[in-house]
Amino acid sequence: MSAAPVALELVDTHCHLDYEYEGGRTPADLVRDAAAAGVTRMLTIATEAARVPAVQKISDSFPGVFHAVGVHPHEAAKMKLEDLGLLERAAAHPKCKAIGELGLDYYYKHSPPEAQATCLEGQLELATRLGKPVVVHARDAEADLLMHLTRYAKGLASGQAPGVIHCFSGTRAFGEACLELGFHLSFSGILTFKNAEELRQAAKAAPADRILVETDSPYLAPVPHRGRKCEPYMVRNTAEKLAEVRGVSIEEIARITTANATRLFSLS
Ligand SMILES: [Zn+2]
Repeated sequence: MSAAPVALELVDTHCHLDYEYEGGRTPADLVRDAAAAGVTRMLTIATEAARVPAVQKISDSFPGVFHAVGVHPHEAAKMKLEDLGLLERAAAHPKCKAIGELGLDYYYKHSPPEAQATCLEGQLELATRLGKPVVVHARDAEADLLMHLTRYAKGLASGQAPGVIHCFSGTRAFGEACLELGFHLSFSGILTFKNAEELRQAAKAAPADRILVETDSPYLAPVPHRGRKCEPYMVRNTAEKLAEVRGVSIEEIARITTANATRLFSLS
C-alpha cells in the first residue's frame, strides 16, 4: 500500500501570468494546474506601467493570485514621469502586495545605467512611502545595486521588511550583504541546474526565515522540465531541490517558505 499523498502548500512568489505560454495556455489553466500541485497562491509581477491593467485583471480573477506593480530595469528608458503616479494609484489595489520588479541589469543593458538608476530610485522612494516591500531584479550590477538598496533599507521604519532579491543567483558576498539589510532571497529553477553548485551552497546557508521559492515563469523551467516554458506548478521542483540541499523534508520547506511569503507580502 502506498502512502497517502502529502498535502502541502507552496507560494510561487514571482511569476508573469500575463506573458505568453505554451499552446495558448491561459491564466486559468496555469492557476488550476498549480493548485493541483499544491501551489495555492502566487504573485504575478508587472514589468512596466503598460502591463499593470492586465496583471491587475488576472489578480482580480483568482483568489490565490496577488500581484506587484513596477518597472523592470529593461524598461527603464521607456519610463515616463507620470508612470510613478500610475504605480502609486495601482498600488492602492487590495491585492497589490509589493513594488517591482525593479532593479539594475548591466548584463543586457536594454536601458542605459543612468535611466535604470533613476527608475530604481523613484520606485524605492515610492515603496518607502507606501510601506510595501520591493521585488528586486539584480544582474551584473551588484556594487551599484547594493548602494541603492543600502540607502533604501536604512531609510525604512524599524520593523519594515525591505523585500526580496528575486531569482537570487548572485555572489555569496552580495547575498550576505542583502540578508544583512533584511532582504529575503528567493530561489528559482536555477537551483536545479547542473552548474549551480555555488547557488546551492548559498541556499543551504541562508537563514530559514528569509528563504522563498519562485518560478519566474514563463522563464527558467527547472529540471526535469528544461526546454519547456516554465509554469507556476513547477515551483514544486525547486522546493524539492531546496529541501534536498538543506537536508529537510519537502513538507518542512513548504511550511517555512509559505510562512515567509505570507508574512513578507501580507498575503491572505
Ligand atoms: Zn520576473
